[in-house]
Amino acid sequence: MSSDAVTMEKIVSLARRRGFVFPSSEIYGGLGSSYDYGHYGVLMKENVKARWLEAMVRERDDIVALDSSIILHPRVWEASGHVTGFTDPLVDCRFCKLRFRADQLGEAQCGAKPSKHPGETESCDLTEPRHFNLMFSTRIGAVEETGLDTYLRPETAQGIFVNFKNVAQIARRKPPFGIAQIGKGFRNEITPGNFIFRTLEFEMMEMEFFVPPAEAEDWYRYWIEERMQWYLRFGIRESHLRVRAHEADELSHYSSATSDIEYLFPMGWSELEGIANRGDYDLSAHTEASGTKLEWVDSEMGERYTPHVVEPAAGVNRSLLAFMVDAYDEEVVAERPRTVLRLHPEIAPVKVAVLPLIPRNAEIAGRARALYEELRRAVIAEYDDSGQIGRRYRRQDEIGTPFALTIDEQTLEDDTITIRDRDSLAQERIPISGARAVVLDKLAQDWRTPKPG
Ligand code: ATP
Repeated sequence: MSSDAVTMEKIVSLARRRGFVFPSSEIYGGLGSSYDYGHYGVLMKENVKARWLEAMVRERDDIVALDSSIILHPRVWEASGHVTGFTDPLVDCRFCKLRFRADQLGEAQCGAKPSKHPGETESCDLTEPRHFNLMFSTRIGAVEETGLDTYLRPETAQGIFVNFKNVAQIARRKPPFGIAQIGKGFRNEITPGNFIFRTLEFEMMEMEFFVPPAEAEDWYRYWIEERMQWYLRFGIRESHLRVRAHEADELSHYSSATSDIEYLFPMGWSELEGIANRGDYDLSAHTEASGTKLEWVDSEMGERYTPHVVEPAAGVNRSLLAFMVDAYDEEVVAERPRTVLRLHPEIAPVKVAVLPLIPRNAEIAGRARALYEELRRAVIAEYDDSGQIGRRYRRQDEIGTPFALTIDEQTLEDDTITIRDRDSLAQERIPISGARAVVLDKLAQDWRTPKPG
């Protein structure tokens, strides 16, 4: 089956059933648009972040890392334009008292008649769109009168811009060079409820690439291509990815050109990542507001200019959702239905499972346990001795574990075990002594999804 038949309900159900993602504050009735990540969700999110950081920092020498604060000086947000410009147009319905994003009425449900969109029934009474700021405000300091009002960051990028001078000097990089950062962002969003697609808090992976102004256009194109390749490299089907350039009236307040990498989610094509040509907007704005010159000075060449910025900005949670949707598959094997997450091995939360066929047999359990201890030193491995073997396989299939190793009575005779491939279901017998090397070798091989485009 293709992911076109994958519904969000199936993803939500699997995510919850297997402990990837839970609704937040559930025992108090849940909090809309907030989710908590369980064991497999955390492991998978860590994989997404690690692959991004490797691609940005380890595999190149023109990008350095940064981890800036979530709470910054309030003047940062004034200078950046977020206090006045980071808004969504919202409409209220005077009848059902719900609030909607004016630009997404077509995706929202009418409060009184959920089969209709807001504005489509006779009783709908929508206000004119008004602009609401998306930043969460907060206050620093315990004393009301002397406290300082500021915001939780809605993006990590500003923490990079205000550190431009520190990093440029210490990292001894000259443009073109980049600063990469992963961290939480917070936005007070009205959401149409697409699970973790849009939440109040989320993790971002942002990289600001500082370039000589004349090169900005070329780097903008370069980063669109580079980021597309990243999703393809980790197994997302090409047929489910596309690039969409923003129209002039969609551009953010800082951007001179933006393209979105979109994924074909169950609710349709939606943004996965934005690549923006921010020009010199941010460095110039902070130079003017702070009085500190954020520019590139090359005294040897007698050069001085404000670099332009090209920014690929991706969401960790949204990527995780795209990886799950793209991997989700159902098939019938030997007349039994099977649900499987065909995840790229480098994204899969668990790499290998060790399953003793007859756990009550102390010798089998002992061999299995020893193998598990050996494997877990190298990769995330799981030991499972509960229930029938078929159920244990199904559990590993649903969390996307690429390989399962089974230890049985034959192991005690000839020191071989079975390795089962999640995608092909092929099983082969290999010597237990070489199992670790075989697993590591298989994990390192190129992987392509067997799902049709
Ligand atoms: P959208 O148009 O969907 O609101 P955006 O254009 O405002 O997104 P950016 O500011 O470009 O988003 O943020 C970069 C990335 O961060 C997005 O491509 C997305 O992956 C992620 N992201 C943004 N807002 C959210 C959110 N509320 N929840 C989860 N991820 C988000």
